[in-house]
Amino acid sequence: SAQYDIASIRNDFPILGRTVWDKPLVYLDNAASAQRPTAVIDAVKGLYENNYSNVHRGVHRLSQESTDLYDDARVKVRGFLNAACVHEIIFTRGTTESINLVAQSYARPRLKAGDEILITHMEHHSNIVPWQMVCEQTGASLKVVPITDRGELDMEQFRNLLSEKTVLLGVTHVSNALGSVNPVKEMIRAAHERDVPVLVDGAQAVPHIRVDVRELDADFYVFSGHKIYGPTGVGVLYGKERLLNAMPPYQGGGDMILSVTFEGTTYNELPYKFEAGTPNIAGVVGLGAAIDYVNKIGLGAIAAHEHGLLMYATSKLKEIDGLRIIGEAEQKAGLISFVLDDVHPHDIGQMLDAEGVAVRAGHHCAQPVMERFGVPATARASFAMYNTYQEIDVLTDAIKKTIDMFK
Ligand code: PMP
Repeated sequence: SAQYDIASIRNDFPILGRTVWDKPLVYLDNAASAQRPTAVIDAVKGLYENNYSNVHRGVHRLSQESTDLYDDARVKVRGFLNAACVHEIIFTRGTTESINLVAQSYARPRLKAGDEILITHMEHHSNIVPWQMVCEQTGASLKVVPITDRGELDMEQFRNLLSEKTVLLGVTHVSNALGSVNPVKEMIRAAHERDVPVLVDGAQAVPHIRVDVRELDADFYVFSGHKIYGPTGVGVLYGKERLLNAMPPYQGGGDMILSVTFEGTTYNELPYKFEAGTPNIAGVVGLGAAIDYVNKIGLGAIAAHEHGLLMYATSKLKEIDGLRIIGEAEQKAGLISFVLDDVHPHDIGQMLDAEGVAVRAGHHCAQPVMERFGVPATARASFAMYNTYQEIDVLTDAIKKTIDMFK
């Protein structure tokens, strides 16, 4: 296989060259947000310098160029997810907005009192709260698949909880708090046997594993640009054409209509029906560049590199007395959550920062996971394509130093 050229990859990310407190930056907060390669920064800058205008409205030259660049990005996302057609790709503000869209436009009109939405105990708040809101609006209730002590979904309970009352299953592909990779294909198959559509939260999956929405047979698949080396404020909702066509618009405004009169309005076709108002044009163009970049390096090569880092970091962290890893699923991707016996996670975060090491300390917007494992918070080291084994050594030494300081 081709050499994984980590030095050249790191060179593509300008921010990795900076220091923090006079130490080289060791960026291990990629699950919160990754960094951007020059290719993405240049795509955004290039758009603003050369082609920028509003999209879809003008016949003038710049508007055509901007529209072409915007449409090209949709073609790239279609290919990236292997969706059947480009109009199944809706641009949103991010994972959060994509889930809210499905909750309000798909679930809300279908839910009645007594119905159920099934989610899991390891969801990010953004795959919990929108469902709670729609349950409150309709009298439906939320059911939750439990997590085992290892941090995997309890699949027996999952099968028991799927019922004729279930209107939709929402499940994260990869947990942002535990790193667990969930068997979403198997879950989708089980749900479909009961005609239950499935929304997969792919925010933590797409940077780390190849996703094929048709192979999974996912009904909805959502992710954010900023976690896959793209800009902030842009994300994707993939939905099956049949489902999207049967859904009312999420927001009203410009671009999502065919004609407007005071007597009534007709809505535009997919995908525009769900893209009201001037979209995040630069964000979408930057996301297209991010996907090109990821494709150039290759998700297979990225996944192999990150798996090596995860194995190495796991074995190094396990050697540390008083360190407990939270989440030991058989299948993990991208991150390690941990706690120390005598040091609060926020103090870990601060001590590591002093060594130039960026990790997240907190509940990771997954408070139910913290409650399940009996911890207020964890420290989380999360990996990207540009992290190195040497950086894991820096992390390990900084953790040991922290323990010594708090003794
Ligand atoms: N789901 C998961 C699994 C996540 O990790 C995140 C981001 N931490 C989100 C949803 C929310 O993504 P965003 O804030 O970009 O909408």
